[in-house]
Amino acid sequence: MANIKARSYAAQSPTAALAPFEIVRREPGPNDVEIDILFRGVCHSDLHPARDQRHNTVYPCVPGHEIVGKVSRVGKDVTKFKTGDMAGVGCMVDSCQKCENCNAGNEQYCTSYPTFTYNGEDEILGGRTYGGYSTSVVVDEGFVLRIPAGLDPAAAAPLLCAGITTYSPLHHWKVGPGQKVGVVGLGGLGHMGVKFARALGAHVVLFTTSPGKVEDGKRLGAHEVVISTNADAMKAQAGSFHFVLDAVSAQHDIDAYLKLLKLDGTLTLVGAPEHPLPVSAFNLLLPRRNFAGSAIGGIRETQEMLDFCASKGISSDVELIPIQRINEAWERLLKQDVRYRFVIDMASLKA
Ligand code: NAP
Ligand code: ZN
Ligand code: ZN
Repeated sequence: MANIKARSYAAQSPTAALAPFEIVRREPGPNDVEIDILFRGVCHSDLHPARDQRHNTVYPCVPGHEIVGKVSRVGKDVTKFKTGDMAGVGCMVDSCQKCENCNAGNEQYCTSYPTFTYNGEDEILGGRTYGGYSTSVVVDEGFVLRIPAGLDPAAAAPLLCAGITTYSPLHHWKVGPGQKVGVVGLGGLGHMGVKFARALGAHVVLFTTSPGKVEDGKRLGAHEVVISTNADAMKAQAGSFHFVLDAVSAQHDIDAYLKLLKLDGTLTLVGAPEHPLPVSAFNLLLPRRNFAGSAIGGIRETQEMLDFCASKGISSDVELIPIQRINEAWERLLKQDVRYRFVIDMASLKA
């Protein structure tokens, strides 16, 4: 069967700007869904591999894993989707689907490693997978999400990564009414964390390094906003939190945030800074604090999150840009200058 050509934007080296590049998508197999990509969120995680910060990137690298579009074709055995449906793809396009984690709906923790949407091992075409900075994608229907009718497709795109990555740990650690919850860093993930923690009924405190984000933090749902560079303001919050969600993309002082937790409180790191973050043992021992991590969420949980968003009227605050401005958007992400997710209108690549 003939494979399909698609237009994309790719990085050719760790230092190269993203530039137009033609890629090949597979012809849809019996269980595959082909999606004509309409919108695609720009995650800080697109920068880390494109800049080879984990030293495992194979170039050319086509990032992008917050994908929303219209189903353009379906394989003969596809049951969940039909042509014209609004569909989404997040960070994974496959997993072993046999191991205990996959069987429990935790495909993101597949013991053989899931196939990530970009820079993953492409077991069908060979080479590496190419992500959503492209006109189309072909994915097994088991890894395709339904976008509920009530959600704006552009504002729904960031839910496929920023949304599920913050929703999943809040659920896992049972955040709810009566709890004081901190969210650290008001970027793409952080602003969804604030919205979800508020919707789940917690008292929400945002920690930001950007004084210019205080009003937005409150508008997005925080009851309080603390400027984390203010030592007195940080001290005033010490030992009072049940849960803290840390969504910071760069090196930062984890101990300063562990100190916020009460007895048995938990800090979950979802941010992925390039270098190790030192932790003082005594900040964990006294008073019996948990330091945890979390990666995206499983497919079932991602669908649950999308349905939750539709029922509560939650979506991402987005700045829509044409793909030709992607390099500028990346520069702005590095300067903490995003309100609060860039989303690419893919019509700009098809024109
Ligand atoms: P983003 O939109 O760029 O937001 C990151 C925020 O971190 C910034 O807006 C800023 O918030 C804060 N920050 C940045 N540099 C800082 C510094 N030097 N010191 C203190 N705070 C700083 O990024 P994102 O897309 O939300 O992603 C956040 C991180 O999560 C990235 O590392 C990304 O790779 C990772 N991630 C992980 C998963 C997962 O599965 N665990 C999934 C997606 C993304 P303030 O201006 O409010 O301080
Ligand atoms: Zn992401
Ligand atoms: Zn598995």
